[in-house]
Amino acid sequence: MQKTINLKKAVEFHGHLGPYLVLGLLAGELALEEIGAHKYFDLKVLVYGANARPKSCLIDGLQLSTGATYGKGNIQKYRAKTIKILVSNKKNGKRITLTINKQLMNRLNRLKGHAESELLAKQLLKISRDRIFTLS
Ligand SMILES: [Zn+2]
Repeated sequence: MQKTINLKKAVEFHGHLGPYLVLGLLAGELALEEIGAHKYFDLKVLVYGANARPKSCLIDGLQLSTGATYGKGNIQKYRAKTIKILVSNKKNGKRITLTINKQLMNRLNRLKGHAESELLAKQLLKISRDRIFTLS
């Protein structure tokens, strides 16, 4: 699945490579797979706890990976203390919630500077998804 992520395109769109951008790319792709949804239409994405940078960078990753965009109005963000991503497939009624694992969240919160952030972003692309997200 990691082959399908077009990181270059994502960085071009977003402006820099950061872990939250990558998390958005991975989360969206995983969610669509899990609920059998296709990009762009007939899905809805709700993002909690990603209101300020750098966490809000997640939203750009999610728009790219799910095709749900602010322009189409099928992605929305809500204030919350912790990050939670909810994706629903309007065609089959399936939905999934993704949270970021605590250990990784602690690491994200301790990041300092661009170099460290880029390094973690690249590492995230290589590790298995169950070490990143909890699905419910
Ligand atoms: Zn960013």
